[in-house]
Amino acid sequence: MTRSYNSFDIAQAQFDGVAELLNLDPSARDLLRYPMREFTFAITARMDDGRIRIFRGFRVQHNDAKGPCKGGIRFHPLETLDTVRALAMWMTWKCAVVDIPLGGSKGGVVCDPHNLSAREQETVCRGYVRCMGRNMGPHLDVPAPDVMTSAQHMLWMLDEFEAIHGSKQPGFITGKPVGVGGSQGRAEATGFGLVFTLREALKELNIRPGDTTASVQGFGNVAQNAIRLYSQIGGRTVCVSCWDQTDQASYSFRRKDGIDLDELLGITDRFGGIDKRKVRDLGYEILPGEAWLEQDVDILIPAALENQITEDNVSRIGKRVRIIAEGANGPTTPAADSALEHRGIFVIPDLLANAGGVTCSYFEQVQSNTNYYWDKDEVLSKLDIKMTAAFIAVSELARKRKLFTRTAAYVIAVDRVARACRDRGWI
Ligand code: GLU
Repeated sequence: MTRSYNSFDIAQAQFDGVAELLNLDPSARDLLRYPMREFTFAITARMDDGRIRIFRGFRVQHNDAKGPCKGGIRFHPLETLDTVRALAMWMTWKCAVVDIPLGGSKGGVVCDPHNLSAREQETVCRGYVRCMGRNMGPHLDVPAPDVMTSAQHMLWMLDEFEAIHGSKQPGFITGKPVGVGGSQGRAEATGFGLVFTLREALKELNIRPGDTTASVQGFGNVAQNAIRLYSQIGGRTVCVSCWDQTDQASYSFRRKDGIDLDELLGITDRFGGIDKRKVRDLGYEILPGEAWLEQDVDILIPAALENQITEDNVSRIGKRVRIIAEGANGPTTPAADSALEHRGIFVIPDLLANAGGVTCSYFEQVQSNTNYYWDKDEVLSKLDIKMTAAFIAVSELARKRKLFTRTAAYVIAVDRVARACRDRGWI
C-alpha cells in the first residue's frame, strides 16, 4: 500500500516538537509554523502546436527575519502548494543551521519538463517571472534550481527579470551558468557539501571512508556529485536507483564491485534517468525501485524526493547501515525517523546534509552583487569550512543534550530564527 503524506503537516509537526523543546512563546510559534507570504498564480504559455496551456505556479516565502528569502523553484507534475510550503519552511531552517544571512522560500510549477520542448520550458520560466517578478529580487527573494530545473532555466528567468526591470541584476537568481553570473562549484555544491558532512560523520564514528560502501536513491545533480566526491575520498557506491520515464516506475541498478559514475552518465538523460536497456549490457543488475535501501551497505544517501523512507519500508533498511545522509529535502517521515533513532543509525538530516547548495548560492549572490568572481578552489574550500562548522555544532549539541541529530539541527536553526524575529520586534 502506498500512503500519501502531507509534507506541510510533517514540517509543522517537526517545528512544534522543537518549539516545545525551546519553550518558544505562543507568538513565536504562531509566526513560525506558517509562511509569512504565499503566492499562487497561473502561467499562460503558448505550446509549439499553437495551443495555450495554463500552468499553476507557487511561491512561498516562509520567513525573512535573517535576510532575503532564498529557495529553489521545482518543476514537478505532482507539485502542490502544501509541498512548497513545507519546502519553504525547511529552507528557513537550512539557511539558519549553516548560519548564512538568508531566510527561506520555495517555488514550484505543476508541469513535467520531460514533455515540454526547450522553447516551451523557456516560456514557462519567463511566465513565472512575469507573474512573480514584483515580489522577488536580489534583496527580497532569490530563487535557485531544484528538482527538474537547471542553470539554463535560471538564466531564462534572470533574462526576463532584467528585461522587466531594465537593468542588469545578476544577484536576482542563483545557480546560473558559469560565465553568465554563475559561481564556480555551484553545480557540485549540494552533492559535495553532503560528502563534507558525511566525511565528518565517519570521522566521529571512527570509520575509514575507504572501508565503506553506499547505496543512493536518485541520479540527478545531487546524487551524481555526491557519488563523485564520495569515491574521491575512497568510498564505493554499489547501487543507485532512479525514475524511468517510459515505464513510469523506478528501478535500482546494482553492481557489487562498484558503479562507474562516468559510464552511467553516458547513458543518463538530463533529468537523471538511466537508460534501462543499456545498463544491463554494462553488467548492472536491475532491481525493484525500493531495493536501494535494502542493500548490505554502510551508508544510504536518499537524494530524490520527499517521503521516501517511511514506516512501511524502514524495517527493510539493510542491517549494516550506519549512516543516512539526506540529499533530498524531507526524504524521511517522522515515524521512520523514530525507527532510525531507535536503531541508532546516524542520520545527517536534510537541513544540514544538503545545505551545500544554498550555501554556495549565498556565495554566488555575494559574487553576483559585487560582480567579482572567485576561483573554484576558493568556493569549495569556503563551502567545506561552512559545512564542517555546521556539522560540528549539530553533532556537539546532539551529544551534549542527548538529542537525535535532526532534533539538534532543528534546535540550532529554530533558535537562531526566533532570536532574529525577537530582535526585530516581530514577536
Ligand atoms: N534548491 C536547493 C535546496 O533545496 C538550493 C536552494 C538555493 O540554492 O537557494 O536547498
